[in-house]
Amino acid sequence: MSSVDTTPLGRPDLVIAVDGTSGSGKSSTSRGVATRLGLRYLDTGAMFRAITWWLLREGVDVQDVAAVAAAAGRPEIVSGTDPLAPTITVDGVDVSVEIRGEDVTAAVSPVSAVPEVRARLLELQRAVIGAGGIVVEGRDIGSVVWPQAEVKVYLSADPDARAERRAAELGGTDVASTQESLLARDRIDSGRATAPLTMAEGAVHVDSTHQSLVEVIDTIVALAARASSGAREGS
Ligand code: C5P
Repeated sequence: MSSVDTTPLGRPDLVIAVDGTSGSGKSSTSRGVATRLGLRYLDTGAMFRAITWWLLREGVDVQDVAAVAAAAGRPEIVSGTDPLAPTITVDGVDVSVEIRGEDVTAAVSPVSAVPEVRARLLELQRAVIGAGGIVVEGRDIGSVVWPQAEVKVYLSADPDARAERRAAELGGTDVASTQESLLARDRIDSGRATAPLTMAEGAVHVDSTHQSLVEVIDTIVALAARASSGAREGS
């Protein structure tokens, strides 16, 4: 094995894009794949949540598109990329816990629809992805952020399954209201003009409704192995 052969795939520069609806299992899956393959991990949803958290703290009206656009460049957002312990800081403060609050969840999709917010985070996301070796999860990774990703996955699950999983994660919150919140975010994320949630060209659709986490991770690891060996044969 050569010194650059740091992943089991022999492709230290591989980029795996995992897009999909809210609550489809993107985070657990992406972290699992990154850990298995020795890759970094980037949660782009956490970046949108971080900017939303900051706007709420600053008292910016998140429905006021002009105010959100004007403020979008101000906070410094830094993502840690260890899949076993991902972090996100705003102006040096770790907000990993705060960004999961209900207030942020309710406000994040309108904020994410503002083009200036997307442009700002797109720049940060591309800088982190850099030379590759990373699993990136979000809504527009395969379509806009990194269309050249070697592996693109569109992860989905039935709304009932998504709501049940998310409610369990949140510690037994009401399944019906969780489902309503997930579907409301899906509607805004899929309907916005800039970089809507969509299945990217070349993406493989993986439906996790009746699959375990390990099965979904296995599927993506197999896609990565295939992409990796195909790239080596072609090089
Ligand atoms: O992935 P998560 O559910 O934490 O993302 C929170 C929100 O951030 C999404 O509902 C969406 O509005 C926004 N988002 C986005 N583009 C991404 C990742 C997340 O618009 N690449």
